[in-house]
Amino acid sequence: MTATAWHDVPTITIYRPTCPVCGHWGYVLVRSADNGDSTRTRYAVCKRCSGRFKIIVELPLSGKGALGTP
Ligand SMILES: [Zn+2]
Repeated sequence: MTATAWHDVPTITIYRPTCPVCGHWGYVLVRSADNGDSTRTRYAVCKRCSGRFKIIVELPLSGKGALGTP
């Protein structure tokens, strides 16, 4: 592997999930379930308004962009 200057690499932006009710970013994950299709559903409760919502996370299993791939 060759060294690459950090200013030459692509940038991706990942937005922090926020409560769909009040917009607050703080939440507690109460449980998580594998959907069997390389996605995972996380069940969350907002710390500010106690609103409940689900977060769907896509988890590439292998190949380019897979989680855990350096
Ligand atoms: Zn909220």
